[in-house]
Amino acid sequence: MKELIYVLVDHNGENINPTSLETLVLGQELAEKTGRRLHALLLGCNVRNLAEQLAGYEVDSVIYTDNALLEDYTFESQCEALSQILKTETPALLLMAHSYQNIDMAPRLSARLGKALVTDCVDFKLSEGELVFVRKMFRAKLYADVRVRSEPPWLVTLQAGSRFADALVKGSAKVIDRQVDLSSVEIKRVTGETVDFAKDRVDLSQAETIVAVGRGIKKQENMDLIRDLADVVNAEIGASRPVVDNDWLSRDRQIGSSGQTVSPRLYLAIGISGAIQHVVGMKSSQCIVAINSDRNAPIFNVATYGILGDLQEIVPALTKKLREIL
Ligand SMILES: Cc1cc2nc3c(=O)[nH]c(=O)nc-3n(C[C@H](O)[C@H](O)[C@H](O)COP(=O)(O)OP(=O)(O)OC[C@H]3O[C@@H](n4cnc5c(N)ncnc54)[C@H](O)[C@@H]3O)c2cc1C
Repeated sequence: MKELIYVLVDHNGENINPTSLETLVLGQELAEKTGRRLHALLLGCNVRNLAEQLAGYEVDSVIYTDNALLEDYTFESQCEALSQILKTETPALLLMAHSYQNIDMAPRLSARLGKALVTDCVDFKLSEGELVFVRKMFRAKLYADVRVRSEPPWLVTLQAGSRFADALVKGSAKVIDRQVDLSSVEIKRVTGETVDFAKDRVDLSQAETIVAVGRGIKKQENMDLIRDLADVVNAEIGASRPVVDNDWLSRDRQIGSSGQTVSPRLYLAIGISGAIQHVVGMKSSQCIVAINSDRNAPIFNVATYGILGDLQEIVPALTKKLREIL
């Protein structure tokens, strides 16, 4: 197997996509565990400054390609640029964020190169020296271990929230300008206006702390208890489905199989029973604190810390204490 790991870093011309930084964390872990060399790869136009930002992380080099045809995303230009780079450098792996753009591009690249593509991974394992990728199946009821049998490079996309971007190890890397020839590219699909539908939505996937509330809150008037606590710990508010169905919070705050998937550092589950449809959306949180009056509530099975009792007493006391110490 070839020794190089490439991480394709997405950006909007000004900022690096946070999920790409999470993917770089996975790249650093893989490089450390397998002894392979790690390179960040940036495609765009006038992206040297972004390449220099990336050079502040522990990677062997940052390879960037400046080309006017890469200014706006088109799968034709991206596929051609990546094909040329991967055919010459032949890394073992090309890691990518599981972004909308890469979901569009990666299958085409895989078909063009005739190389394996493993999508939406959340982790990796080394099993008897063999690299195995882990991905969720059936709404996270199962975790599948995926072994790839084809020749490298393997193309792999990583689910948002699978790593924490602030775990990136700092370093000092060289920046390499890598030209590609895109003169033969014929662009058949042009992106018109880009509309940010998520602009007014709450993006819980990037939240560091979430205070999530369930049916145990009983009525809308009690929601102030949750808002006060969230305010003190500087958290986003999330909810189980009944809270949203009751219109106590907006639909974009629902967490679970038909809501958002989150993985904050701290998840407070208040008056939430822990039904599987909720748990699949929050179980990869780093620390889960559950407050529930039923000692048999399934949420305690996934909780790091459990507080047994009436939320009407516990939440105000917790808020008061935290206000004193924070
Ligand atoms: C197709 C499908 C998709 C679904 N998608 C989702 C989804 O995306 N997200 C989701 O959340 N659900 C989803 N559900 C619903 C899910 O099955 C559960 O019904 C839901 O998660 C339960 O929400 P809950 O825990 O708030 O309520 P309950 O299950 O009613 O639990 C309330 C909890 O509050 C506790 N409690 C009550 N009073 C107090 C008190 N005073 N102090 C402390 N604790 C108290 C109780 O002990 C109980 O554990 C879905 C269901 C289906 C069929």
